[in-house]
Amino acid sequence: MYPPAMNPSPYRGRFAPTPSGPLHFGSLVAALGSHLDARAHDGAWLVRMEDVDPPRVVAGAADAILRSLEAYGFEWDGPVMWQGRRGEAYQAALERLVAAGRVYGCACTRKAIAEFARMGVDGPVYPGTCRGRPAGEGAAWRFLAPDRRVVFQDVLLGRVACDIAAECGDFVLKRADGVFAYQLAVVVDDAEQGITHVVRGADLLASTPRQIVLQQALGHATPVYLHLPVVLDGLGEKLSKQTLAAPIDDADPLPALLRAARFLGMDAGDAVGTLGEFWWWARRNWRRENLPAVRGGKLVG
Ligand code: GLU
Repeated sequence: MYPPAMNPSPYRGRFAPTPSGPLHFGSLVAALGSHLDARAHDGAWLVRMEDVDPPRVVAGAADAILRSLEAYGFEWDGPVMWQGRRGEAYQAALERLVAAGRVYGCACTRKAIAEFARMGVDGPVYPGTCRGRPAGEGAAWRFLAPDRRVVFQDVLLGRVACDIAAECGDFVLKRADGVFAYQLAVVVDDAEQGITHVVRGADLLASTPRQIVLQQALGHATPVYLHLPVVLDGLGEKLSKQTLAAPIDDADPLPALLRAARFLGMDAGDAVGTLGEFWWWARRNWRRENLPAVRGGKLVG
């Protein structure tokens, strides 16, 4: 396990930002929620830098994210894990899946797929055109999605069900350009880090069933999931680095932390005047039952 468990609590949570830009208010909410849920359970909280996809990585963003976390008073356990250095582990997992007959090579272009595939919960559902093709260089490696329903219990959203084959289809594990897919990297790393609880934004809810089938195919335990409500901007869009959400201000962390706490159903009132007081108060006042209820879209029901 990486890093080794130092405390007796079985809870191990994590925050896993993609360094495609600096931290914004939406990612602060995810960091705070995952941190407080871990600490409220005497758990460990790890940071993983999800720099698996080089074209998405913005120079300097990873350092800026870590500096912000520090400026905001987050403390994490063990060294940061960097996905960019984990290629061998992803390749080993891919080879296990290939050996188990769960992977095939796909030479279809994005354009062709967009033309003949219908839309699912998270983009086009690949119809399996290349099934049976051997996996190999020069093509994408696709996971043969099981034709069954995946059901899990989200701490906040309740029962979530997804018919993987119909709603996601066979998904990519490694692109033709050699880049490993987020879904595979997350599953391999959550297992390596011994993550027991995944607390993250509900924008990732549609990924969870795919991650669960990969965990099952690789023989890894499925963590507990808690998908937090997503912060929307004035136009009703998710705050994201793509929509150029404003970075949080490292020089003045307290107002943003108090806002993030309020978003998560915690009201400090007049109790907090300093960063130290904030963390003291927040660690004692985290209540899952006060989180705002959200319906995570069509997967929930
Ligand atoms: N790297 C992902 C993101 O920044 C989060 C992945 C996860 O929490 O599983 O959106």
